Amino acid sequence: MPTRFVDTHCHLDAPEFDADRTAMRERAAASGVMLCVLPAVAAFNFDTVREMAHAQKDAYALGIHPLCAGRATDADLVALDAALTAHQGDPRLVAVGEIGLDYFVEGLEPGRQEHIFEAQLRLARKHDLPVLLHVRRSVDQVLKGLRVAGAGRPWHGIAHAFNGSDQQAQACIDLGLKLGFGGALTFERALRLRRLAASVPLSAIVMETDSPDIPPHWLYATQAERSQGQAQGRNEPAELPRIAQVVAQLRGMPVEDLAKASTDNAMAALPRLAPLVSASEPG
Ligand SMILES: [Zn+2]
Repeated sequence: MPTRFVDTHCHLDAPEFDADRTAMRERAAASGVMLCVLPAVAAFNFDTVREMAHAQKDAYALGIHPLCAGRATDADLVALDAALTAHQGDPRLVAVGEIGLDYFVEGLEPGRQEHIFEAQLRLARKHDLPVLLHVRRSVDQVLKGLRVAGAGRPWHGIAHAFNGSDQQAQACIDLGLKLGFGGALTFERALRLRRLAASVPLSAIVMETDSPDIPPHWLYATQAERSQGQAQGRNEPAELPRIAQVVAQLRGMPVEDLAKASTDNAMAALPRLAPLVSASEPG
């Protein structure tokens, strides 16, 4: 039996996959990725990710991405609340996401992002759902939001594409979160991230690709290559086992053990994944 993984974060509705989505998903399955979690980014793709998750027998989350917060209105928050109510019995709806704060991309107004983020944390609590968190140069602010909205109770969820300090990683773990690792750590110069992936407790790790973004180094086109006309490499879930191989090597453990642990961790972070994982087991 091949080693089996959950890709806990991939945007399979992205237009980059329009030409070959079915083949892409089949490549993922053939590589051992049994389940993908498709986060929404704004009200416009709530129906798309839900329908795609059902068609592919995957899972999905509903939420407003921080990069979409600038255009989001309070009516979008009402629409999110209504969608979470309408689909609360849907076994493939596993979280509120992708939500969070991004202080790296310029031109995003922090106050607006924080308003949209904090409202969504309250919705996650109201609907008793985990969170898929986008945390970019914002770990401390995200943790503060979680502490306020959580009012002392722990969270379920994932800090996706995690890239913080040891202390910030521990603070996330203390709040109940798992840490998502993906293609960024395949670059040898990502020293701090590689050290973190090697040193955090095994029980904290979940695997993700963030497809079509964050291509691993073997797909990455450099600035020079792009100026020669080469397109940036497109990431896809079938890359996950090779990315996990890098993590396993960094930790000095068999990749099969990492697959097992990261799948268990994904089910702990997103409890509604458990029956979906069982249903996808062969035989
Ligand atoms: Zn994402």
